[in-house]
Amino acid sequence: MKRRSLLKGLGLLPFGGTFLGTTLSSDLSNATPVKKMPQGESVDLMKELGIRTFINAAGTYTTMTASLMQPEVIDAISRTSKRFCMLNDVQDKVGEKIAEIVHAEAAMVTAGAFSALTLGMAGILTGKDVRKIQQIPQDLEANGMRSEVLLQKTHYEGYEKALYNTGVKIIPVETAEDVERLVSDKTAAMHFLNCNASLGKIQHQEWLSLARKYKVPATIDIAADIPPVSNLWKYNDMGFDFVTLSGGKILRGPQSTGLLMGRRGIIEAAKLNNSPNSVTIGRGMKVNKEEMFGMYVALKKYVGEDREKEWKDWEHRVNTIYNAIKDLRGVNASIFHGPINMNTPMIHVFWDKSQITDNREEFLQRLRDGEPSIEVLGNNIGLGFNDDGFNMTTYMMQPGEEKIVAKRLREEFINAAKA
Ligand SMILES: *Cc1c(COP(=O)(O)O)cnc(C)c1O
Repeated sequence: MKRRSLLKGLGLLPFGGTFLGTTLSSDLSNATPVKKMPQGESVDLMKELGIRTFINAAGTYTTMTASLMQPEVIDAISRTSKRFCMLNDVQDKVGEKIAEIVHAEAAMVTAGAFSALTLGMAGILTGKDVRKIQQIPQDLEANGMRSEVLLQKTHYEGYEKALYNTGVKIIPVETAEDVERLVSDKTAAMHFLNCNASLGKIQHQEWLSLARKYKVPATIDIAADIPPVSNLWKYNDMGFDFVTLSGGKILRGPQSTGLLMGRRGIIEAAKLNNSPNSVTIGRGMKVNKEEMFGMYVALKKYVGEDREKEWKDWEHRVNTIYNAIKDLRGVNASIFHGPINMNTPMIHVFWDKSQITDNREEFLQRLRDGEPSIEVLGNNIGLGFNDDGFNMTTYMMQPGEEKIVAKRLREEFINAAKA
């Protein structure tokens, strides 16, 4: 599964189609004093700024703002925003609670899974040595640090950039023999990208055994690989030295949060490399106290709820959409199980070009331009389809939105049917 390829495709989507420059300038010329503007929840800032909103039938994509925070998260943010406290106190206390939930020795809230990767690797390189903390990402070896990370060739996706940020070099390997040949006293860690596991020659247990044999930390990125909920602790239980996860994907915590979980020594050192400490590579990865609380509440809620029922809801939504279009002339729809980092029921739709006027881009634009606007996943790469149809998920929809999507899809295919 190539998540980055999916993202690349998404990067091509035109955004902001409903923004009207004329509306904005006339609004500005008629600008009213702030005190006269409607207050509180009656202010629709999206509308005021001309920002298109849409139903998310694509998934947890950062460009689409990924997920909607759970109401309990918003509530936690709001309630904790009213008093001062020491930031490190929040990080420590929240981290302890999170560590218990995920079966780790320690945990911390980071500015996304990406920053968790950077901070975790920084922690491995520097330990608690202040001089080293101030030195990275420069001259690792000259400053007495290890400088290389082993990564399977098939685990390069782009997210390894987060490791490069610490100054390490990444050494590609394919086989256990490669590892034995290339591991050395320069090796800082052996990193694993969970969503690409099936593409590689070395699986988790063997990767861990090799790392143990050479006394090198084994690290893993599982950013989007939930459900199942048990993945929250599975890789900690297996013995990975650190595990990174997104807070703003399926967990529906603050979009700019993530988790770094693992060995106490690494997490403590990662904290020293992070904001609020100055002269650190993490100073720009600030997480405010409210988001730390929000991440904690999101996680607690996620493990406390009935996830089987949620899966049934997703199936119901997918069936609703599938049933609305399956009998349309020239339209083919199928339900399939998404890959490990979109582990949810999905729908694939493609059509006979002799029966429907639109190509894929035209049809996606039709969905985007209608009311309400809908974004789907207009890219098949990594999902096993060779046609130029599109894919949909329902796990980021609000309850009931599947009915709207079903109706719009049916109407738009009928509108696009050739006479
Ligand atoms: C989404 C993702 C990330 C980045 O996560 P953020 O929380 O957005 O920083 C890193 N690695 C993988 C595999 C991802 O899917």
